[in-house]
This record gives sequence, structure tokens and C-alpha cells, in this order.
Amino acid sequence: MSHVRVKGLSVVLETRAVLSGVEFEVRGGDWLAVIGANGAGKSTLLKAVAGVLPYSGEVLVDGLPARRLRSRDRARLIAYAPQAPALPVDMTVFDYALLGRTPYIAYLGRESRGDREVTGSVLERLDLSSFASRALGRLSGGERQRVVLARALTQQAPVLLLDEPTTALDLGHQQQVLELVDRLRLADGLTVVTTLHDLSLAGQYADSMMLIARGRVAASGAPAEVLTEELIGRHFDARVRVAVGVGGRPEVHLERP
Ligand code: ADP
Ligand code: MG
Repeated sequence: MSHVRVKGLSVVLETRAVLSGVEFEVRGGDWLAVIGANGAGKSTLLKAVAGVLPYSGEVLVDGLPARRLRSRDRARLIAYAPQAPALPVDMTVFDYALLGRTPYIAYLGRESRGDREVTGSVLERLDLSSFASRALGRLSGGERQRVVLARALTQQAPVLLLDEPTTALDLGHQQQVLELVDRLRLADGLTVVTTLHDLSLAGQYADSMMLIARGRVAASGAPAEVLTEELIGRHFDARVRVAVGVGGRPEVHLERP
């Protein structure tokens, strides 16, 4: 299990400070949900932790500064599924998911039978086996989103970063994806950081939550500490009622003014 610690993380994009002094910690095997209004900096945060964006501050995985790792070693440690990546339209679902195995394949080498087996079983778990030979350009939005997740899962890294993994999915597939991530974390001890649009859903799955507002941490703690009417009202500019749901988890309902 891998422990993630982020210290004083700041990101400047085109002279704009998009993230400032973000700090958090996720214990090995825990699930952190990052929430915040549109443009708050959630995607930027995941990109920085994944090492695909330059940042200042520290990202430590098991105490090791991620920036010192070669990209291949980092990819074995941290898997990242972007919100809406550009996909090569002619590539098949199987070959795209297989790309997640790249950090395990020797330079100019070929994938092993094991790599193909891992890929096949991930596709199966995501209900994608029947799409294996379909071109990416011929998928629905929800199918595409599951394929991006599949690529991150075939990476078999102990830290999994998912940006809005359920946004384009129907209810059944939302549940399937979140349950799968939860099972992987319980079975394999994955450390999970997701951004999630649906606040109740985030509160149902996460061990802890962090609210980002204008690039800074506005609140963090257990779901019930972050999902309060006051904090959501202030940072999402929305009127909500928070009820206590199953297992004491908070449920967020929109209220008509
Ligand atoms: P979120 O995922 O929370 O909706 P993002 O992390 O995508 O927000 O974006 C945070 C802010 O950074 C937004 O205001 C966005 O417009 C800005 N931003 C994103 N990419 C760039 C960029 N390449 N250059 C300048 N600003 C950017
Ligand atoms: Mg985003």
C-alpha cells in the first residue's frame, strides 16, 4: 500500500496561479475525493500529482519525491485517468488498454502473454470484452470513459488518480465503476484519489474529502465534515439540504429557492 503526501503544491498556468499551497495526505488503501466548483483546480491538481504538469512543492509517494522518478518508474507507482483525453480514433479498445502495460515492457520490446491477460481481465471487469476489437472512434461517451479507466487499471499501480470517472456514465455503469474501484482498493490496497461531480456519491465512497476553491484547500476531513450546507452553499453557490444517509454518510439534495 502506498501513502501519498502532497506539500505546498502550487501550479502556475500562463502566469495564472491555478493552485496555491495545496496540502493533503492519503493513507495507503484510503480513498480521497476532491470536490469543488467548475474551474476550482481539481483536474490541475490530479495532473500535477500524476506528474504531467510542472508544479512547485512536493508530491511524495511512500516518502519518495515523485519528481525524482523516471517516468517509467512513476507510471508503475501512479496511474492517472484524465477527464477527457484525446483518443486515437483508429486504435482498438484492446490496444489502447494495453498501453497501460507500457511501463512493464522493455524498450522496443513486445508485450508478454501476461500483459495481454491483465488487459483482457480488466476489460472483462469493466464490461468491455465485447468491445475489445472496436475502434475508439466508434464508441459512445460512456464506453470511451470506461476504456480510459481500463488503461489506468492495466497499469496496476498502487496509486490510482481518476478525474471525474463517472461523469459520462449511466447509473448502472457509475455504480459498476465505483464498486470496482472500491473492490480493488480493498483487495489490492490501492490508494485512490478521485474528483467527483456528484457530491453524495463522493460522500458514499470516500474515506476523506477535500474541497478546493480557487486553487486553495477550503476544507478537508471526513465526508460529514466537508459536505455541510454551509460549505457547499458558499463554495458552489447553491442551496442544498444535507441529510444523513445510509451508514451515517451525508446526502446532498438541491433545494429550490
Ligand atoms: P476543475 O477541474 O476544478 O474544473 P481545472 O483544474 O480544469 O478546474 O482548471 C482550473 C483553472 O485553471 C480554470 O480556471 C481554468 O480555466 C484554468 N486553466 C486550465 N488550464 C489552463 C491553461 N492551460 N492555461 C491557463 N489556465 C488554465
Ligand atoms: Mg476538471
